[in-house]
Amino acid sequence: MQEHISSTEAEVRAAVERAKKAQADWWLGHKKADRIEVLKAVESVFHRSSAEVIGIIHRETGLPKSTITSSYNGALSGVRYYSDRYAALGDRPFPLDPIGWAGTQATIRYEPHGVVGHIGIWNYPFWQTMITTIPALLTGNAIVFKPSEITTLTGLRIAELLGEAGVPDGVFETVIGGAEVGKALVRSDVDALVFTGGIETGRDIVRNAGIKPMILELSGNDAGIICRDADLEQAARGVATGTFLRAGQVCARIKRVYLHKDIAEGFLRRLVEIASRLDLEGQIGPMIRAEARDRVDRVTQEALRGGAKLLLGGHKVKGPGYFYEPTILLLEDPRAEVMSQETFGPVCSIMLVKDEEEAVRLANDSEYGLGATIWTKDMERADRIARRLQVGNVWINEWGRSVICGEYFLGCKGSGIASSQERLMMFLRKKTVIAHYTNEPRPNWFK
Ligand code: NAD
Repeated sequence: MQEHISSTEAEVRAAVERAKKAQADWWLGHKKADRIEVLKAVESVFHRSSAEVIGIIHRETGLPKSTITSSYNGALSGVRYYSDRYAALGDRPFPLDPIGWAGTQATIRYEPHGVVGHIGIWNYPFWQTMITTIPALLTGNAIVFKPSEITTLTGLRIAELLGEAGVPDGVFETVIGGAEVGKALVRSDVDALVFTGGIETGRDIVRNAGIKPMILELSGNDAGIICRDADLEQAARGVATGTFLRAGQVCARIKRVYLHKDIAEGFLRRLVEIASRLDLEGQIGPMIRAEARDRVDRVTQEALRGGAKLLLGGHKVKGPGYFYEPTILLLEDPRAEVMSQETFGPVCSIMLVKDEEEAVRLANDSEYGLGATIWTKDMERADRIARRLQVGNVWINEWGRSVICGEYFLGCKGSGIASSQERLMMFLRKKTVIAHYTNEPRPNWFK
């Protein structure tokens, strides 16, 4: 049996204590410009170390290196983006009702939460860590970070490199381990929580956290709607990429497709053709764990027993690594688990629909609300459908591109809470300060 090294509950509490002490100085003892300078050094240290860190991520996750590299560089562009925005952010005077408030001024100030507990994920272990770390540290918070137990080495190396770049001791603390350590961090005295992971874990965190600001970035089951007038070639390539890249282990990827029946034959032929030529190691990659692959296989076989038609794949691949064949299923039952729940594997579940109305209804009939894609040449139609979809992100004739550094990557319904703001603002709370500056006696005060 494999043994895991894990932080104890007492070690989690001690890390939070150290972070509390360090945060006070990081916020009050440093100027905004000092923190911006440290973050610039962070950017250059991580650029210098990119080959090493990407190598660690690749060894821990098996994800194809090309997909790690793009998200690695994308995350680091957050330093410039968030620094510029933070530099421009100042206290804001706020109007008071002039009657009875003469000589009084209100100011809205922006202050850090304090210590942010951050529970990390393995599928984007650098990207997800940095899109929290950069804005949270800039704004004067300290962080206690628990990487996913699958990417512990990545997490520890990130912490070391932050220290080398000049992030002071205690401002970025790391604890390691699995669910139990995550729970200990959730229950600890941190001032805010950031979590990326599955919807069930998200529910558990809400139960355990008590009253504190929380950012939850949870599972998705994104719909792809392919309208009758879609460009079939682009739609087939987009769906193949959006479904099979990283073996489908992407939160916002196309997981279920609603395809207009009139164009089904041409679209399916092309999709199967593209998917059957994909390189398993270089383009798709393995699944993360045996249990994850077993689940994908189970829901696929259940769908087939329930009457789904297998258009491609449907089997585990023998050999080292938990590879699963790119799989395409045609279903009639929207309640099949492979269609209604997130699979997080290389499976494309497709249903034929008669019109736009049916596609929108089925797409919205879901507890998830992360993203959706629409394929059509008619932009009015695209706009009409986009308005009706209950999701945080819509792509039109596109797939998966996000706005810079995780900004405005939103989730609604079961896919997350509190991510519907600018990221910098998630790590700041507003404080209202009301000051009377003339010191004249107030006529309505008791004498
Ligand atoms: P998971 O929920 O099992 O684990 C995520 C993290 O939570 C790990 O660090 C784990 O140790 C910790 N954890 C587990 N149980 C916990 C508990 N009870 N209390 C506190 N911490 C706990 O996630 P997973 O299955 O490994 O990851 C895949 C999921 O993440 C998918 O559903 C995917 O859609 C989602 N995801 C979402 C986003 C987004 O931005 N919305 C991004 C990446 C991944």
